Formats: sequence, structure tokens, C-alpha cells
Amino acid sequence: MSGLELYIEDEAAMTALGHALAQQTAGHGIVFLEGDLGAGKTTLSRGIIRGLGHSGPVKSPTFTLVEPYEINGLRVWHFDLYRLADPEELEYLGIRDYLADDDLCLIEWPQQGKGYLPQPDLEIIIKTHNDGRTVRLLPYSTRGESWCVALATLT
Ligand code: ADP
Ligand code: MG
Repeated sequence: MSGLELYIEDEAAMTALGHALAQQTAGHGIVFLEGDLGAGKTTLSRGIIRGLGHSGPVKSPTFTLVEPYEINGLRVWHFDLYRLADPEELEYLGIRDYLADDDLCLIEWPQQGKGYLPQPDLEIIIKTHNDGRTVRLLPYSTRGESWCVALATLT
């Protein structure tokens, strides 16, 4: 499996994809979310976090860099590295601790952390297309591959 490309027509469909991804990850792994401002990275992250059972708000971590969630014994770390001045700052943020326990790490703008982030289980690339979005899912681990195989059967 070399990946998957989906056409996601609106925000509701993006949320539904997030729920499907939540089910697959079961709250573990590293997911990169890439795409321009307004592509839908936070919308998809919100769908994943809500899909794991979180009922409160999911704010963009633009200014805080990371927003933590505790959901039924699972921990999720939602990063937005857009404003990271230097990838080395991730060391001071304690990135190794975040990654240590196989929690779910959702990372928007991973390019900003180049050299200080491990390879993800899944890279997600979102592009605007007509009124909706194309979403490419690229696995980098056997776990990521199994998520893609499962998601392919849904579409
Ligand atoms: P990002 O985090 O990539 O900057 P956001 O998720 O904050 O983007 O914003 C995406 C915007 O696009 C929101 O206004 C959302 O309603 C809209 N959107 C998200 N997914 C879709 C989609 N599949 N089709 C059309 N609009 C979408
Ligand atoms: Mg965002």
C-alpha cells in the first residue's frame, strides 16, 4: 500500500474522516498534517480528537504550540509548529517526552520541526480542490499502512 488519496467535499466529510482515523489509531501514533493555511489541518485534527471521545472545544494550538487532551485514559498532543522560530526549540519544549509514551501526536506544520521530529506513522497532505479538499494519506510504518488499508475500504 503506497497511500491513499481521497476527495473530501466539505467540513462534515472532513470531520467524518477524522472520526475514522480516530478509530484506526485508537489514540496512538504520530500523524503529520500538511497543507496551506486554511487547508483543513485543524478541522481534521478536531475530528480525530472528537472521534476519540473528547466533547469540549478543540482550539488551534497556533499560539500555544501544543494543546494537550486527556480522553478516557488516552493522551493526545495537538501541535501547531507554524510559529516555531527554530526547530531546535522543540528540544526545550520537551518533544522527546511527548513522543515517549506512544500517545497520539497530531502535528500541524511538521516541516517547521525538521530534524527534530521522528518519522511519522502517517503523513496527511491536504490541498484545496474545487470547493472541497484532496487528502493524501502516506504511511511510513506498518501501523500507518494498516490504517490506510482500513480507510481504503471505507471509501
Ligand atoms: P488549517 O488548520 O489547515 O489552517 P482550518 O482547519 O483551521 O485549516 O480551516 C479550514 C477551513 O476550511 C475551515 O473554515 C473549514 O470549515 C474549511 N474546511 C475544512 N475542510 C473542508 C473541506 N473538506 N471542504 C471544504 N472546506 C473545508
Ligand atoms: Mg491549523
